[in-house]
Amino acid sequence: MAVLEVVTYPDDRLRRKCRPIVEVDDKLRTLASDMLETMYADDGVGLAAPQVGLDIRMVVIDIPAEDGTQGHNPVVLINPEIVAREGEVPSTEGCLSVPEYTAEIKRAEKVTVKALDQNGQMQTYAADGLFAICLQHELDHLDGKLFIDYLSALKRNMLHKRYLKLKKEQQHAAAR
Ligand code: ZN
Repeated sequence: MAVLEVVTYPDDRLRRKCRPIVEVDDKLRTLASDMLETMYADDGVGLAAPQVGLDIRMVVIDIPAEDGTQGHNPVVLINPEIVAREGEVPSTEGCLSVPEYTAEIKRAEKVTVKALDQNGQMQTYAADGLFAICLQHELDHLDGKLFIDYLSALKRNMLHKRYLKLKKEQQHAAAR
């Protein structure tokens, strides 16, 4: 397994609409393992393919156990689709692709998602709590959408300027 490079905002690869996966094969399963490894390395609970630079519809999720340990219940979702939503809850979110930033947005409280698993079998997930939030966040990535898109224009502008400045500083540091 390998830890992959995580693409960060404002990289254009986070803004693409990803294409459906046609074949679930060993290559895809290896990629799913690598994505899980990458997610665990960064203490994330979910990771979508565009976050490692790929425009395909695959997401991995592992909600930590109550004692905070991870790596127990990895879920691989291929071509996932939300088929039902219910309720509304406030959700404080962050993203491995938007480092060092969290904000409160609104999400559906419960969702039902259909997806293929790593064996190509169709599964249905009736989710609530953190799993439901995470599913909505990760599936948004597959359509080029980030959680910060739900913020006011003012907040998004401030955030954008902050990241552009950060990028400039990094480029300066690299040029030296
Ligand atoms: Zn994210």
